[in-house]
Parts: sequence; structure tokens; C-alpha cells
Amino acid sequence: MSSCAVCRRATEPGLHACPRHVAELRAWLAELPGQARLLQQEFLAPAAAPAAGRIGGTGRADAPVPVDLRVLTLLGPGHADARSVDDDGTVPILALLGAWAGHIAYTYPAVTRDPYGTTHVQPCDQAWPRHYETITGWCIWLTAYLPYTLAHPWVGDLHRQLGALLDRVRDLTHTVPHRHPQGAPCPQCEAFALVAVDGHWGITCDACGHHLDPAAYAAHAAAFLHTHQTATGSAAA
Ligand SMILES: [Zn+2]
Ligand SMILES: [Zn+2]
Repeated sequence: MSSCAVCRRATEPGLHACPRHVAELRAWLAELPGQARLLQQEFLAPAAAPAAGRIGGTGRADAPVPVDLRVLTLLGPGHADARSVDDDGTVPILALLGAWAGHIAYTYPAVTRDPYGTTHVQPCDQAWPRHYETITGWCIWLTAYLPYTLAHPWVGDLHRQLGALLDRVRDLTHTVPHRHPQGAPCPQCEAFALVAVDGHWGITCDACGHHLDPAAYAAHAAAFLHTHQTATGSAAA
């Protein structure tokens, strides 16, 4: 029996993440490049850019623009070890993503065949993102390797570390994906707590964590509406 390394729900055999947490990982990897661009634009803009009004009446055109050290850390270089990253708020984005890609590449078996036809399975030594080693490049790379990642219990570590990273970044950019409450109640716990979040695939219940894919929600919502309308109709009759 397999279970989700994040929420411990039963999963399909051999998988260590449930559909809800897979969708979350995918959404985070899609969100991160845009968040990093925001950090860059808002906090590391050239010193000539700030509006005069912000500097105020000191009359000093060369007043230093305050740069948040947390932003410099996030956007800076650095190294991390994927399996032992503590959420101490000092790991740069690139270092975290690169460390995970390195870990995945190292455990991913590369199958080669020697001239005598013998098959050899050995770990790849290096991850090569097609878009070079940028935040976007690593996010695309990690998304492509998600199906492999999900087959390992350490996907829980990746989820925890990416979640903490997104928290740090959103805290600075004050930008979070929009949430759209849905009209039909949760089919599992009946709470009116189903929410769609921009960039997240599917719909999740805030109350119990139940996750529906879009087609399942559409069918559920149509059935709910039908029952509701029939009930109202007969009450009015
Ligand atoms: Zn889960
Ligand atoms: Zn629910």
C-alpha cells in the first residue's frame, strides 16, 4: 500500500504523492519563475528608478535605495544539499532547485548499452536543463521529472522545501495566486469549502483536503445543481 508523503492518504501503488499534492508541486514550479521576476523588478531595480517622492525632503539624490537582504539571499548564488536543507530562510532559490535537480539526476538510472550489447544501468552524473541554469530552466526541468520524483518517498522533502520557499517569496512580493470559491459543496465532507486556485490543476476542499480533477468537479457541480433545482422546483410547486 502506497501513501502520500505529504498527507498520508492512500495513493496509487508505487506513488508517494496524492493527486492534490502533485497538483500543488506542479503549480509551485509554474509560479516560481514569475515570483522571482517580481522580486527582481521590485527590489533590485536600478537605483535611478525610485520616484523622487519616496526619498523625501532630504534633497539627497544619492540616498541609498534600501535593499532587503532577504531578497538578495533568495536571488543570490549558493549551494544546497537537497536532502538536508533546513528551512532556516537562507537558501537561495537557484541553489535549492539546482540541488534537487542534481539529486534527481543522480538517482535517475541512465540506461546505456556497451558495444557488446550489454545493458548498463547507472546514475546520471549531472542534470542539464535545456534553458541553462536559470530559475525558469530548473523549474521546467523539475516539472519534466515529476513523474519520476513521485515514485520516491523523498518527494515529501521536495514538497516541504518548495512550500517553505514559496512562503518566503510570497511574503516579500505580497503576491499570491487568486482563489476562486466554488458553488457546490465538497462531495466528501459536504462543507462549502471547494476552492480553485489560479495555476493549480483541479479543485481542493479547504476543510478536508479532498481533491477533484476539473472533469469530476464539473460532473459533481452539475449533479448538485440538478438536485438543488429539482428540490426548489418541487418546493415552489
Ligand atoms: Zn497528499
Ligand atoms: Zn471536504
